[in-house]
Amino acid sequence: MSKTRIQAIRGMNDVLPEESPAWHFLEAQFHAVVKRFGYREIRFPVLEQTQLFKRSIGEVTDIVEKEMYSFDDRNGDNLSLRPEGTAGCVRAADQHGLLYNQQQRLWYQGPMFRHERPQKGRYRQFHQFGVEAFGMPGPDIDAELIQISATLWQALGLAESVSLELNNIGSAGDRNAYGQALTAFLEAHASELDDDARRRMHSNPMRVLDSKNEAVQSVLADAPALADFVSQESCEHFEALLQLLQSLGIEYSINPKLVRGLDYYNNCVFEWTTDQLGAQSAVCGGGRYDGLVAQLGGRPTVAAGFAMGVERLVLMLETLERVPESYRRPVDVYVLTASEGLSSQALRLAEAIRAQCPGRGIVCHCGGGKYSSQVKRAFAAGASLAVVLEAAGDNAPLSVKIRQLAGSDDVWTGELSTIPAEVARLLGA
Ligand code: ATP
Ligand code: MG
Repeated sequence: MSKTRIQAIRGMNDVLPEESPAWHFLEAQFHAVVKRFGYREIRFPVLEQTQLFKRSIGEVTDIVEKEMYSFDDRNGDNLSLRPEGTAGCVRAADQHGLLYNQQQRLWYQGPMFRHERPQKGRYRQFHQFGVEAFGMPGPDIDAELIQISATLWQALGLAESVSLELNNIGSAGDRNAYGQALTAFLEAHASELDDDARRRMHSNPMRVLDSKNEAVQSVLADAPALADFVSQESCEHFEALLQLLQSLGIEYSINPKLVRGLDYYNNCVFEWTTDQLGAQSAVCGGGRYDGLVAQLGGRPTVAAGFAMGVERLVLMLETLERVPESYRRPVDVYVLTASEGLSSQALRLAEAIRAQCPGRGIVCHCGGGKYSSQVKRAFAAGASLAVVLEAAGDNAPLSVKIRQLAGSDDVWTGELSTIPAEVARLLGA
């Protein structure tokens, strides 16, 4: 009886070996950049109390209303797979006393889960790199965060393909006043709105600004502007940030429609977008969230951060062919045997070559087989050199050949002891 094969969950991807070089390149550059800025890694669980996300992201957001993977565990506790990293980062940092009276520069990475409609660049399990800075109230830290992301785009060769949008969404108080004005405006135009907008105009009117519906957008053309409700203090902070960005040579544009999908943001928010990915244009988003730590029960601690979407950046790196060749070549040398019974010599020779060529991939053929099929495997592995061990006859020393696989088919012959150094020379190691 045939059994149906179990498939992966929709929207949850396997990353296959041929895709991993782009991930590795991205991870390596991200790790190098955050290190250069003095950030330290924090890790926290994939599962948290559902309440953590409700209280941080906001009850009336898409994420909490309809995208979370929530369930009761065997103890009856309601848990959720994390849909983003900031809430867990704040929870962990506060729980372990990292926040009170301190400054912290932290980063994290890992999978996030949102039950969205899967499409190119939008998945149900996706990965983020995130950076969070605590205890620094000024616009200097906001500028630093943007500088980190800009440095990463340079390192990845993506700087020409992304652009920075900023907005000042004001303090929580400013937004409250604005929200009331916006609700009143939307109520007056309720008949021209769609169901989604009508539902949100009371619960979370600012989310209506994000609507993808053109009819709703045309109503919004005459809506009150948030900018008119933003306090003097917020405006000064934002102006100072713009000055800092100019002095750093970072170009930006102001997008008054940028509100972000999470409720905890205040003052400056930003997003890096690209025209390389179709509809899924945002590759990185962030901003200040000065109220969140207190909102989650910690002592008031100002904060700012950003998160970037790994899959979208990987797509960009692949499309624009930015992944260096060195990341694509896992195997440089393939050691094989032309006679039977040479396994132990082959394994030891491969080990000696590894010692001589650090950082290179040296595969020792396993599983036997004919010489010709071993050579085929060496080609399939993408090796540039094959090292061939051959028994020359009873009591005669082993003959060892190095065969060039890429480019020419030159052959060198040598003794076992001299081969590792010769391989290193040929690889330029
Ligand atoms: P979008 O507007 O594309 O839905 P978002 O505002 O929901 O993005 P954030 O919550 O700010 O995104 O997350 C930061 C980054 O994570 C985004 O800029 C994006 O690159 C990435 N991201 C968000 N949701 C997904 C997803 N479902 N699949 C893949 N990447 C995602
Ligand atoms: Mg989203």
